[in-house]
Amino acid sequence: MKIQCTPVKLVPFFLLFLIAACATTPLTQRRQLVLLPSSQLMQMSLSNYGEVKNNSKLSTDPREVEPVLRVGKRLADATMRYLKEQNLPTADYAWEFIVIKDDETVNAWCMPGGKIAVYTGILPITKDDTGLAVVMGHEIAHAIANHGNERMSQGMLAELGSVALAYAVKEQPEKTKDLFFQAYGAGTQIGLLLPYSRLHESEADRIGLTIMAMAGYDPNAAIPFWQRMNALSDSRPPEFLSTHPAPDSRIENIKQYLPEAMRHYQSRS
Ligand SMILES: [Zn+2]
Repeated sequence: MKIQCTPVKLVPFFLLFLIAACATTPLTQRRQLVLLPSSQLMQMSLSNYGEVKNNSKLSTDPREVEPVLRVGKRLADATMRYLKEQNLPTADYAWEFIVIKDDETVNAWCMPGGKIAVYTGILPITKDDTGLAVVMGHEIAHAIANHGNERMSQGMLAELGSVALAYAVKEQPEKTKDLFFQAYGAGTQIGLLLPYSRLHESEADRIGLTIMAMAGYDPNAAIPFWQRMNALSDSRPPEFLSTHPAPDSRIENIKQYLPEAMRHYQSRS
């Protein structure tokens, strides 16, 4: 789907606002619509991440926690280096990683500002650090490409029409919170979550492969990881695939992105 950054049917003052709210994704350089102020998003992210931490059973098993912290730190360091090299903003990122003890839930997510959760149910599929880097790199990619803000912005346009955004956020906090849950996949009610679009999925695959490569993980591992994930979906559809639907062409697309990622992998000092 092509994202329209300048819808022409809106009233002129709002049109100006929309043009100002256009951003560009890192690496893929796609123009996108992001209406929600980053400060607002960070506030919601912190509050919701806090709620998740309070209401979830967190793993303290070092066999589960240490790999997530180790891989997460390497990926976060590589991401920050890349953003700084590209002169992109980094101030909002305060990376944090939790492992939720839930062997039945095959899932992982990253909220704005680098607030990441990995469920223990996905660990048998990631298998090792490199497999974990595929999943966490993909989630970090959704976050740094602002996909959640873009989805919330689309939801706001669809549901609130031309109501000025500042008014909507201030006067309709519940609606904004619902949109946040739907956009970030962090709510407890899986049925409410919006799946990422095909465009966001392939973009997160491409950026995620590059992030993992820059962090020193072989991006070729993405192919067997997605094969394992797809095999699982035949018997027990994982939550991860309900918010990150895998198009049939995913593995073919990943093969096309691998040369770009491998250049980063091989050029590491
Ligand atoms: Zn995804």
